Amino acid sequence: MRNIIELVRGDITVLAVDAIVNAANNTLLGGGGVDGAIHRGAGPELVQECASLGGCRTGDAKITKGYLLPAKYVIHTVGPVWHGGNRGEAELLKSSYHSCFLLAREYDVRSIAFPAISCGVYGYPMREAALIALGQAQEAVAQNAGLERIIFVMFNEEALQVYREMAAQLGIPV
Ligand code: ADP
Repeated sequence: MRNIIELVRGDITVLAVDAIVNAANNTLLGGGGVDGAIHRGAGPELVQECASLGGCRTGDAKITKGYLLPAKYVIHTVGPVWHGGNRGEAELLKSSYHSCFLLAREYDVRSIAFPAISCGVYGYPMREAALIALGQAQEAVAQNAGLERIIFVMFNEEALQVYREMAAQLGIPV
């Protein structure tokens, strides 16, 4: 059977999948990092739709169209800021991934691409975050037979290597 979970290096904004996930902030009005790249790729209509959504709580997710992006939808989630690990960061990051997968099911998304949520400016350690991301993907595959591809998109080789190691640790074939 083909592996559903894939690890790739590259720019998430160029992927022609049903949905790409944005590591957004609570305002949903755009920011730096992957958020800025997604808004640049989608064009100004994205921020207009985002402005109508009333923001997004940490650990939650909201969906919009993809506009000028090759992806049909953007799922915006807000991961936690890392404060050392004792402020519920792991539960919130799990909740971010889980919320994205719930929306994916609701919108019949079969292919979805994730960046390393919270691992940039928000400072979440990559290894711990990768274990959560991959664990949530495994659960989603078990619960949603409609999922065909879950792509984790890494911006650099180092991050990709961490995801490979964590996938091996969890016994996920990639
Ligand atoms: P956060 O605020 O949630 O930490 P960032 O956007 O700062 O979000 O970083 C999240 C991750 O996305 C980082 O690992 C960063 O290297 C990566 N990233 C930045 N731009 C892109 C892109 N165009 N495609 C994929 N990943 C990206």
